[in-house]
Amino acid sequence: MQLLSFEESGRAHLGVRRGDAIVDLAKAAPGLPDTWPEVFAALLLSEVAKAAEGATDSALRSPEDITLLPPIPRPPKILAIGLNYHAHAAEVGLSAPEHPIVFARYPLSFVGHDMPLLCPSASEQFDYEGELVVVIGKGGRHIPAERALGHLAGYSVGNDGSLRDFQFQTTQWTLGKNFDASGSWGPHIATVDEVPGAAAGLAITTRLNGEVVQAGNSSDMIFAVPALIAALSEVMTLEPGDIILTGTPPGVGASRKPPLWMKPGDSVQVEIEGIGCLSNPVQAAV
Ligand code: ZN
Repeated sequence: MQLLSFEESGRAHLGVRRGDAIVDLAKAAPGLPDTWPEVFAALLLSEVAKAAEGATDSALRSPEDITLLPPIPRPPKILAIGLNYHAHAAEVGLSAPEHPIVFARYPLSFVGHDMPLLCPSASEQFDYEGELVVVIGKGGRHIPAERALGHLAGYSVGNDGSLRDFQFQTTQWTLGKNFDASGSWGPHIATVDEVPGAAAGLAITTRLNGEVVQAGNSSDMIFAVPALIAALSEVMTLEPGDIILTGTPPGVGASRKPPLWMKPGDSVQVEIEGIGCLSNPVQAAV
């Protein structure tokens, strides 16, 4: 299944893709909770599947008529991993980390598919980072790597948009990773059953104005998805609806000579094999 959220009349609705249409779960299954974290926590995905299958025409929306939000607009936690690809660590002149480098992003730093990424006036160093996103379905603490997959709801596609000058003003990356609407994720969550093998071996491609700028593979991660779940849950309880951005392959704009920054008028796409394609225009923040 492909799970998403969209906005209608100022409210977030849960949706499921069915063929070319989107099933509005508020219409197709009004008894279900209205956030994905609650659906995951109550183990209701099979009910969602039944409702999507049985939905009548009145519950169907055309993708052109709706505005997609990030699949979970307000995840309990948004964790992100830095320098998690050997070739990316090398291109920025650093050795592979011994432990995952973890930072946090916050909900307002993200927009959904097709919504504009905002280029802030305070910085001209707006960089793209195509990434695999992991979505937690079943919470837990001290989750061993061999049981990690049982805790996932699915996978998505992310752009960990970064303002490099702010990111490196200090040793802490939080500011450069959290300008409003500087990143995106979506368009949907592909449930785990659609993505075999812990999402290893998937091509990750980022295009800026149609030109390929990152061409990586999830198998090149230094810490693979199960290892990340184990490391994070050693420290904190992972909760249904938490998301983890798992790091970017090589090709970021900051490592190019000359550097390549996103600017108003650009369009950026991140595509992950078997999961989906996330596309955003870039606009100036007002
Ligand atoms: Zn990143």
